[in-house]
Amino acid sequence: TDIQELLLSRIRDVADYPEPGVMFKDITPLLADPAAFTALTDELAGIAASTGATKVVGLEARGFILGAPVAVRAGVGFIPVRKAGKLPGATLRQAYDLEYGSAEIEVHAEDLTHGDRVLIVDDVLATGGTAEAAIQLIHRAGAEVSGLAVLMELTFLAARPRLEPTLNGAPLKALLQV
Ligand code: IMP
Repeated sequence: TDIQELLLSRIRDVADYPEPGVMFKDITPLLADPAAFTALTDELAGIAASTGATKVVGLEARGFILGAPVAVRAGVGFIPVRKAGKLPGATLRQAYDLEYGSAEIEVHAEDLTHGDRVLIVDDVLATGGTAEAAIQLIHRAGAEVSGLAVLMELTFLAARPRLEPTLNGAPLKALLQV
């Protein structure tokens, strides 16, 4: 579609970042273009509405940039899921595996309640490890996942089959697939 072409044209490929052999998808040109950023926000807010989301969760750090305007546009609250050690209040913490080693993410426990339906927003879905941990956090908080929405899915890393059991029927929406 026209919107997909616009979005794709504003994503920059950066070779060998953050390490040799990786082609990094850089969304900063998209953020700098108000037409593209608005179109992206509207698309994701439409997914929030169509999945009945009552909250938007953004994954640090680019998920904050995308998720916050989506929450405002959709008329629901925004909740940050952060790297461990950044949130001041009582948190739930979830560990997940990286290519080398592991990482932990956290959410403020009181931000999510039973009955909440949460749309998780991020820029790029790679292996799905981060999203999987976020889904687990939301479930542990007693909330439901209304869906996972990303700007770009790197299909060769096979996050979709990995996430299907955890998503438990909730949709995985990628505006672009490469
Ligand atoms: P995953 O856990 O392997 O799916 O990695 C996803 C996380 O890493 C997301 O929070 C992304 O923001 C980030 N990420 C991985 N690859 C890229 C990329 O090419 N561009 C931007 N972010 C990326």
